[in-house]
This record gives sequence, structure tokens and C-alpha cells, in this order.
Amino acid sequence: LRLEMQKSEKLRVISELTSVFAHEIRNPMQVTRGFLQLLNDPDLPKNKKEYIQISIEELDRANEIINDFLSFGKPLINNNERIDVAYQLQRVVNIIQGYSLNHKVEIKTDILDNCWIYGNPQKLNQSLINILKNAIESMPNGGIVWITCTSTDDRYIKINIKDQGIGMTKKQIDRLGSPFYSLKERGTGLGMMVSFQIVHSFKGKIQVHSEMDMGTEFIILLPQIT
Ligand code: ADP
Ligand code: MG
Repeated sequence: LRLEMQKSEKLRVISELTSVFAHEIRNPMQVTRGFLQLLNDPDLPKNKKEYIQISIEELDRANEIINDFLSFGKPLINNNERIDVAYQLQRVVNIIQGYSLNHKVEIKTDILDNCWIYGNPQKLNQSLINILKNAIESMPNGGIVWITCTSTDDRYIKINIKDQGIGMTKKQIDRLGSPFYSLKERGTGLGMMVSFQIVHSFKGKIQVHSEMDMGTEFIILLPQIT
């Protein structure tokens, strides 16, 4: 038990520090990317154009890693408040709309009951967006993602995110959340680690049900307030 606690404490510190650094690193990266694009003159020799292209791609990759930690700006450390989960889910869906359309994925939010929890909304949204992004990416030919939010009898709120994607084996589910575990060619393997860490910091739980080639269902349980 002590070892477990040390591990989650370590993860908490890592993700806290990473958020702060990431925020400061993102701006200079954006500037560099802009100048690289300006350098990319059509008359340049082919190999130089290729170097510029590779540099831009690598910067984009670094940006992906940062996004897994920090899509929503710098989380303020003690920024806890009452959160209207249905409202935040709607915000997250709006933010990811462009990405899902690009992947021919429709997001359905038919049942979003009024549910209140206490915590940092930026962190909640970060954990939801990482799960939602994976749901979208799990359907290479498009499909539907269902999101519901309901309250349970035992004072939890239950967020359900369900896709029709490639699914996972039991072994793959067990590895979810370990740092750098990714089956994607250009994955970071950090999104789930961050999501799990955030949900645990809310004293919540994540359950995953999945069937190969059928889809995956994430159930996020968070302590409810009135
Ligand atoms: P990344 O998305 O960068 O690969 P994540 O930590 O977000 O890293 O996810 C880790 C791995 O978990 C993914 O590479 C994928 O194999 C698996 N995974 C997560 N969510 C899903 C899902 N909804 N459907 C299928 N596989 C998933
Ligand atoms: Mg991911």
C-alpha cells in the first residue's frame, strides 16, 4: 500500500511540474514553428525543404505531448470550485468538435443530467478530453461516441464515454495508464496516465469495458456534492 501511495504521489508531482513547464515552453515553440514556415521557400533545394518539414513535424509532436497534460491552460494549483459536470462536458464537446468532424465521428450527448462535483474544472476537462480523444482515434473509419452523465444511488456521478472503435484486450486494459504505453504510431502514451491521475485526485474511479472490434466504454465515477 505504501509503495502504491508513493507511486501516485510521484505521478502527481510529475504532472503538476509538467503542466507548469509545458505552459512556458509552448509559446517559444509556436514562434519557432512560425519562422520555420516562413523559411520554407518554394525555391529551396529539396533536401532543405525536407529538413524544415521534419522540424515542423517534430515541433507538432512535442506539442501533442504538451496537449496531453495541458489543453486548458495552466491549472492553478488550488483552483477548486463547485463544478457543473454537464456544463463542462458540453464545453469539452465543443472544443473537440473540429477534431471529431475531421475523423468523421459524431458525438452524441442525449442524457446530461445536472450533476455537481467539487474540484478543479480545468483538470476535469483535461482528463475528459484525453479519454474523448482516444475514443475518436479508436474509429479509423468514423462512427459515434456517446456521452452520458447521470447520478448514482450511492452519491457518485457517473460519466459514460462509449465508442464503436477497435476495442482493447484484457491485457491492454490492464496496461492503460502506465506512462508511455501506446499502440499508436505517433502516440504519446501519456493521455491515460494523466486522466487516471486526475480522476484519482478527485477521489474518483475509472472503469473500462471493452470488446475487440466492438468498442470501448469508459465509466468515470466522481463523488457527488449537493
Ligand atoms: P496515446 O493516445 O498517445 O496512444 P493514451 O495514454 O491516451 O496514449 O492511450 C494509451 C493507449 O490505450 C492507446 O494507444 C490505445 O492503444 C489504448 N486506448 C485508449 N483508449 C482507447 C479506446 N477508446 N479504444 C481503443 N484503445 C484505446
Ligand atoms: Mg491519447
